[in-house]
Amino acid sequence: MEDLSRLCIHTVTTKPWDIERSIDEYARAGAGGITVWRDALAGRNITDVRRRIADAGLTTVSTCRGGFFPSVDASKRKAALEENREVIAEAAELGAPLVVLVCGADPKQPLTDSRAQIVDAIAELAPEAEKAGVKLAIEPLHPMYADAKSAINTMKSANDAAEQIASDFVGVAVDVYHIWWDPDLETEIARCGDLGKIFAFHVCDWRVPTRDFLLDRGLMGEGCIEIPTIRGWVEKAGFTGFVEVEIFSTEYWSGDQAEFLERIVEAFKLHV
Ligand code: ZN
Repeated sequence: MEDLSRLCIHTVTTKPWDIERSIDEYARAGAGGITVWRDALAGRNITDVRRRIADAGLTTVSTCRGGFFPSVDASKRKAALEENREVIAEAAELGAPLVVLVCGADPKQPLTDSRAQIVDAIAELAPEAEKAGVKLAIEPLHPMYADAKSAINTMKSANDAAEQIASDFVGVAVDVYHIWWDPDLETEIARCGDLGKIFAFHVCDWRVPTRDFLLDRGLMGEGCIEIPTIRGWVEKAGFTGFVEVEIFSTEYWSGDQAEFLERIVEAFKLHV
């Protein structure tokens, strides 16, 4: 049997399943890891979820997500910091070593201001994250989200921010969906590796045509992203962690999740 020990699945990928079902099914499919989206924890005792994950033999890779730091409004920036402190505490309680950050952007101010606020916020949180034993990964988001979701849109921008913050607990999440188009990708992935800051690797595919810019991510192999090439760069840069399948898709969510999981495992073997 093919080794699936480095396969990790994000709970959002099988959104119709609750966290308990997701844990059981991922383990049964042979996956080694799980990334927990915070909405899946609503109303749950975190310690119980932690135990169930461990009992299933899965590793908790990260939680998604923190971030959304910038705002023209100082009180909102302060509230975002507080929220992220809760996210870090929750990750620690769950036993997750990493929180993925969607950094945010406020269209009412220049991107440069949003970027500066992101760096300030993460720099403030870094010592607290270190104390909690939880790392923070800046995920560069595709530039189509630069208006309101993230002012960090390239690997270079994420590397620059992480380098400026200069904490061992702050790095980068490399998600192929967001950065596959970047002509500097290979160079910046290598740089990220040299900095010791590749904290996570997320895969899915870019459907052609993409019918919705949030909820139409493809299964690996059905789009135009050169996933094995990018994985090769990431691993050449020293990354040995999990390959995380993160797919938001109204189409797949509307179908049978057990069949979808089988297809994920097949696609992981063939196209990653
Ligand atoms: Zn991602």
